[in-house]
Amino acid sequence: MPALRPHLSLAILLLLAAASTLTATEPVDLAVIHKIKQEAFANSKVMDHLFHLTDVHGPRLTNSPGFHSAADWTVERLKSMGLTKVNKEKWGPFGKTWNYTRFSAHLLKPSYSPLIGFPMAWTPGTNGALKGEPILAVIKDEKDFPKWKGKLAGRIVLIDEARETPLLFKPLAQRYSEKDLDDIEAGLVPVGKRPEFDREARRKAMNARAKFLREEGATLVVTAGAKGDGGTVFAAAGGGYREGDEVPPPMIALTPEHYNRIVRLVKEKQAPEIEVEVAATLDNKAAGSYNILAELPGTTKKEEVVMIGAHFDSWHGGTGATDNGAGSAVMIEAMRILKALDVKLPRTVRIALWSGEENGLLGSRAYVKEHFANPEDMKTTEQHAKLAAYFNYDNGSGKIRGVYLQGNDMMRPIFEAWFAPFHDLGAARVTIRNTTGTDHLAFDSVGLPGFQFI
Ligand SMILES: [Zn+2]
Repeated sequence: MPALRPHLSLAILLLLAAASTLTATEPVDLAVIHKIKQEAFANSKVMDHLFHLTDVHGPRLTNSPGFHSAADWTVERLKSMGLTKVNKEKWGPFGKTWNYTRFSAHLLKPSYSPLIGFPMAWTPGTNGALKGEPILAVIKDEKDFPKWKGKLAGRIVLIDEARETPLLFKPLAQRYSEKDLDDIEAGLVPVGKRPEFDREARRKAMNARAKFLREEGATLVVTAGAKGDGGTVFAAAGGGYREGDEVPPPMIALTPEHYNRIVRLVKEKQAPEIEVEVAATLDNKAAGSYNILAELPGTTKKEEVVMIGAHFDSWHGGTGATDNGAGSAVMIEAMRILKALDVKLPRTVRIALWSGEENGLLGSRAYVKEHFANPEDMKTTEQHAKLAAYFNYDNGSGKIRGVYLQGNDMMRPIFEAWFAPFHDLGAARVTIRNTTGTDHLAFDSVGLPGFQFI
């Protein structure tokens, strides 16, 4: 696990939750901030939350057993803190339920080596160990189908070309420098909006290839993953998660160094042999999912709500510590501290831990549609006017450096006031820019003030 500094971020989030109850002209309550900092630094439970979410329950792919057991643990923890309305709020349908319980891969010939890899989500298991000489059949889309028709039956298919793994001269991760932050802050017009990622086009292509490979009788499909090297493997979805999506043959991703070695052996006609075993369960019926909700009731304006949240789901090739166990643990801890300090907040503070984020912000979008507004016709509910703000925490570990205003300039003086007591902790930057790719977008898309931090 990388060195996390969640307590810093946490103190800021707590302030935001507390300060949202103030108007822009009201001063920030330094006495409360002092208490929050004390509790966050001296009595933190954040690493314990994170330990349970990641080391104990493991990956939290939406609706997998790890997701459910981590959710049950979280519900109990939120209840034990004394929060109210702790519940798993259903939404759906989500889609297929997938899990794996065993993976092993080996190069047997021309010489032995264990292979580093993972099965790909929503693909079946191998039904015991599968052994064979792989064939290199690079199939990207339909254009490649005719070339391989009738040639893949009973074969282990290497589906990508060898992927280049250049020597790394740059660090794997980098913090924003002060100059980087200056640049982010300097913009006068909102920028950073990306065109919506075309999930439907990708889904269609994925389904066409899955159907072709299955109908041709390939026994196993091996990829090098789209990114990652130096022993790192990114194994995401091999098949579609939605009911009706085509089921491909079993699929695995190997670290590119190992994948490339097998490709070279095939090309040099060394007749390599590999053995792979995947135990996986795939239920093709669509199941619903749920978000985890809990509240700290407000006092004088308790029907008004400030929301904080993070996505709870993760991919299956790791324990989802940085994406987004850290964000979930910080938000759980924010609620714990507010409750422990017994701060009397006018508005209700509600935590939401989302599912289906990795599949397209599904949990948060479903929640927003149910409670606030339908983005298709923008018809709002009564609750729409009662939501003061939503603060999201995603994008990995590390302390908060500032906030993206999402083009909402009216929030600038408010955030500047809120951040003032946190300048010494490195949180000071307020930029008009947008940031994308996580659950605050579900709120922004229906005109609610949703924010994500720098
Ligand atoms: Zn994330």
